[in-house]
Amino acid sequence: MIDFEPTPEQKEAIKAAHQLAEELFRPISHYYDEHEHESPQEVIDKVWEKRQEGSLFLGLDTIAALRVEEACWGDAGLYLCLPTPGLGGAAIFATGTQEQLQRFLGNYNEGEPKWGAMAMTEAACGSDTSAISATAVRDGDEWVLNGEKIFVTAGKRAMENPDGVVVVWATVDKSAGRAGMKSFVVQAGTPGANVEKMEKKLGIRASDTITIVFDNCRIPYENILGSPEVRKIDKTKTAGFKKAMATFDATRPIVAAQALGVGRASLDFVKEVLEKEGIEIRYGLPRYKLSALERDVIDMEANYKAAKLLTLRAFWLMDQSLPNSLEASMAKAKAGLAVTKITQKAVEIMGPLGYSRKYLLEKWLRDAKINDIFEGTGQINMLVVARRILDYSREQLK
Ligand SMILES: Cc1cc2nc3c(=O)[nH]c(=O)nc-3n(C[C@H](O)[C@H](O)[C@H](O)COP(=O)(O)OP(=O)(O)OC[C@H]3O[C@@H](n4cnc5c(N)ncnc54)[C@H](O)[C@@H]3O)c2cc1C
Repeated sequence: MIDFEPTPEQKEAIKAAHQLAEELFRPISHYYDEHEHESPQEVIDKVWEKRQEGSLFLGLDTIAALRVEEACWGDAGLYLCLPTPGLGGAAIFATGTQEQLQRFLGNYNEGEPKWGAMAMTEAACGSDTSAISATAVRDGDEWVLNGEKIFVTAGKRAMENPDGVVVVWATVDKSAGRAGMKSFVVQAGTPGANVEKMEKKLGIRASDTITIVFDNCRIPYENILGSPEVRKIDKTKTAGFKKAMATFDATRPIVAAQALGVGRASLDFVKEVLEKEGIEIRYGLPRYKLSALERDVIDMEANYKAAKLLTLRAFWLMDQSLPNSLEASMAKAKAGLAVTKITQKAVEIMGPLGYSRKYLLEKWLRDAKINDIFEGTGQINMLVVARRILDYSREQLK
């Protein structure tokens, strides 16, 4: 039976994440939104200290969904700056061997590695991940990487700090199409991996988003994720591609949880203001007896809760080592859409309070949209869901 009730220890971890969000993130949320590219050092130091004490749990258990939500309730941009293995860690977790898990992630909760990022997107390759043009060529005991990756979240920190790792997607044989696609771990400080540009963004502005250029970047042969058996590529099979895509089974639920945090922050804000104004939401009344405002708030809550249940289910399956591709995409598609709807409605309901930079609501509206873009857009995740439910292949439903 699925049981989402946290244990007493998990409750403590959720409480700690909320406390961090409330006491550390919220007071500086505006500042780092307005000072894009300035490093939130106080956050990084504090969280690093907690990781080393072992008082911050980072694993990908079911309740990770709730810890991520709490952190993003505080600030989604600052959450993405935390010294954690991030999406790179999730990729290694999803597709690495036991040896690689140990070598690159060590003990998650004892401070290794400090930062992680994942570099898949290229100028001519976004939703269609099979269009990757970055190459990995074997040369003796090494791989030589060449190509340019754009929009890499937390890439600068992962590239420039000791113990940082970036998981890079590249093809080992372009003529093999999807079968040639693999993912590789590049460790911080590797010559030939250069940070070229920092993006200026609409939302999650505290988070660094960069371009990395790989110019004859040499990494050990063993840094290919999963089995290194690539000498003979069977062009009729796409096992390598499927393996790399399994990364999304771990990362999509995390993004869904991030969306929940931003959505709940906005909902809480609206409900607090309504309460102060003495406006009560009359739950349980037939819909035709409710005011337009009540209907809006109830719809927002229903969207949030539906997204939350899907997210918890995707995490739970992952925690049980059960297949979760369908559920991961369902959670991501629903949560990305829910948070954009919730924040937009919240700004609409609050009027000037929603639009003014005095409050954080306008920022949450800007922070929301990315959840419907990265780790597969809403449309792409809905395509994945449709294919899986209808049992259509990629070629049958594009
Ligand atoms: C702030 C930020 C951070 C990011 N971080 C990372 C990161 O850490 N690592 C990384 O690798 N990438 C990252 N990305 C890139 C992100 O994953 C891509 O932007 C995303 O996958 C979409 O790709 P694209 O922008 O090329 O859009 P396109 O693929 O060109 O799509 C454009 C539009 O067309 C739609 N579309 C495309 N194909 C279909 C289809 N078959 N059916 C229906 N609709 C379709 C899409 O949904 C979208 O609305 C980041 C992006 C941003 C903005």
